[in-house]
Order: sequence, then C-alpha cells, then structure tokens
Amino acid sequence: MPAFAEDLNARLAAQREQNLFRELCRVDSAPGPRLTSGGKTWLNFSSNDYLGLANHPALKAAAVRAVHDFGAGAGASRLICGSLAPFHLLEETLAAFKKTEAALTFATGYAAAFGVITALLGKDDIIILDKLVHASIVDAAKFSGAKLRVFAHNDLNDLAEKLRWADERSRLRPQTCRVLIATESVFSMDGDCAPLREIVALKEQYGAWLLVDEAHATGLLGENGRGLAEALGVSDRIEVQLGTLGKAVGASGGFICGRRALIDLLVNHARSFIFSTAPVPAAAAAAMAGIQLIQTPEGDGLRAQLQQRIAELQPATGRPPAAIPSAIIPLILGDETLAVAAAARLREQNIFVPAIRYPSVANGAARLRITLSAAHSAADVAELSRALSTIKTDAALSKVP
Ligand SMILES: *Cc1c(COP(=O)(O)O)cnc(C)c1O
Repeated sequence: MPAFAEDLNARLAAQREQNLFRELCRVDSAPGPRLTSGGKTWLNFSSNDYLGLANHPALKAAAVRAVHDFGAGAGASRLICGSLAPFHLLEETLAAFKKTEAALTFATGYAAAFGVITALLGKDDIIILDKLVHASIVDAAKFSGAKLRVFAHNDLNDLAEKLRWADERSRLRPQTCRVLIATESVFSMDGDCAPLREIVALKEQYGAWLLVDEAHATGLLGENGRGLAEALGVSDRIEVQLGTLGKAVGASGGFICGRRALIDLLVNHARSFIFSTAPVPAAAAAAMAGIQLIQTPEGDGLRAQLQQRIAELQPATGRPPAAIPSAIIPLILGDETLAVAAAARLREQNIFVPAIRYPSVANGAARLRITLSAAHSAADVAELSRALSTIKTDAALSKVP
C-alpha cells in the first residue's frame, strides 16, 4: 500500500502535468458583474447568476426575515424534527410556477438529481442518458444500479435505438422493468437545447419516462421563465422536472416538480432528502422571493436585458446566432493548455472567464465558458468583446475560433 502523503502528491503531480490541476480562488466581494480578489477587481463572466438575483435586495431581505423568524439552522432532517414553514411555502410556489401537482426541495440540485433517480430506479431498471448530462445525473444513475445506456448528444436516432433495445429487454419482464430517459433542457457547458418535443414523442411511443433537468433554463426561458419545457408546450408530458435554485433563481437548493405521488415517493425513498439536515430556512425564503420575482414584470425586464447582452456579444463569438439564444457561450479550444493560456490572457486584461476542463467536459474538449448576466452593462460586454479579439490575434492562441 502506498504511503498516504506520497500517494496524494503523486496524483496531484500527474494532474498538474496534464494541465488539469484546479484550485480555489478566494473572492472578497458579493456576487455580481465585478469580482474582487486579493485587492484586484475583474469583470466577471463566470457565474450562473444569470439574472443578477443573488445580490438582489428582495432576496436578501427575505433571507434576513427568515433568519429572524426561523433562526440560522434547521436542526435536523425535515422528517425528524418537523418541516419548517419556509420550505412548504417555497414548494407551493414552485408547484404553482411549474404548474405541477406538487414539488419537493433538496439542499442542492445535485442532491435532488441523486435523490430522485435513486428513489425511482433499481438494478432491474434501465436509464438512458444524453452523453452530455450533468455529473449529478451520471452519479445517481450509477449509484441506482440500473442498466445504463448513453445516447449521442441530442441524437434522436441514437435515442430511438437505445429505446428499442430497452423495449426488447423490458418485454422479458413486463410490468417490472422501468425505463427512464434523462436529459437537460439547456446544456450546462455548451448552452445548446435538447429537442424536447421530439424526445417527449419518442418516450411516449416506447412507454418510457422522462426526466428533464432545467438547471440552466429555469427563470430564463418560457412564459414567466418557467423553462424550455413550457416554452415548447410539453411540460405536462414530462414525468420528472428537475431544477436548481442556485442559478438564475439566485439562492441555493434543488427541486423536483411533478405529481403528488412522485413527491410522496421521494419523501419516503430519496436518501439525499431523508438522511440530510434540512437547508437553512433563509435559503428557502430567498429562493421563494427569487421564484416570485422571476414571474413579475421586473423578471421580464431582466430576461430582456440578458437577451440584449447576448445579442451584443454574438459578433465577437464568431458563430451564427442560435435559434434559442443562451447565456452560456462556450469557446471550444480543445487542448487543455490552450484553454488555460487563453483564460490567463483574459485575466491579464481584468476579465474573469473560467477554463473548463476534464472532468467537467470530455478530455480534449477544453473551453472558455463565458456566461452573461442581466447585471452586465453594454460597456461590460464591449470590454469582453475587445479582450476576445486580442486573444484571437495572439499567435499562441490562433486556434481560438
Ligand atoms: C448546477 C447543475 C446541477 C446541480 O445543481 P446545484 O444546485 O448546483 O447542486 C444539476 N444539473 C445541472 C445541469 C447543473 O448545471
């Protein structure tokens, strides 16, 4: 057996060698378009706080009120010491927002994905994933013990093939073999959208169930920001709607929306719900204020502002405008070293854009992941566009699209 310290150091050294080593950057400012670290300030294009709600006065006031009324901590799991009112108010708000019978919140989106998939599926079942789904879904799928199949990203023919395979398998044990498809609506590292209408038609043809992770669409797409499923008119045909409260909603937590029976099943079987202390009530109160704000004219205004910023940056990306414009703009460089160098070059110009590498994306698919927010100004985007043009003329980075 290797000695503890030597083993860790050897693994870290290997990671550094491949340009895959990561470290935390301490930030001394509140979330927003500017980020202060070590006395320096950067323009921040790295956050998923797409509407600028994380530092919004209404959310902060709601959190402070909840601390005042319900304390700093929840004390235990919601099944053990009673379930605090702010969680129930949030869940009623979420169910009304997504127009489902019920909703259940978790400490994080990761916990929600983990809880729902492991509660629904076991070793006799089948799960079919888009190649690019989030790690939370992949981890849950593996832990569930279900047979796992992966279809090529957004490839309906490949999905149909996997469904035919699942159909044949499940015929051997009709009534007991569950088949669940899982995809995202807006993909986290690519910003593109799943063909949800076609996926819904396919899953119905084969009698499978569908989970859609709207982590990067909730608050942004569809009427009142309900998500892509609502925008495409298929939300009432999706068995499991998953989301996070930590991105456009501006707070923290994860949620599942669906039928009452699904929520009852989760309360009884979702291990990440049952065996975990409830989040701080202030997080639920802030999230509820976020979900409410998203549905107001102010929310419409923020979405319009974000769309405006996306349009302003579009010429600098060198790509045609997307059918559904996304606040996630990846500049794919491939090579890890190149991506790290490009991020460093932007950093020199006071622009903070993360270099995303394996395991967040595939090996050799490293990229700059730019994210825009309604809190950015036109001048902020102009500065980013200028900085991007300087990295394109840099000889070492000439591969940048
Ligand atoms: C961020 C994210 C999650 C996890 O949500 P958290 O609240 O951050 O734990 C799940 N799915 C996708 C697609 C995400 O991008």
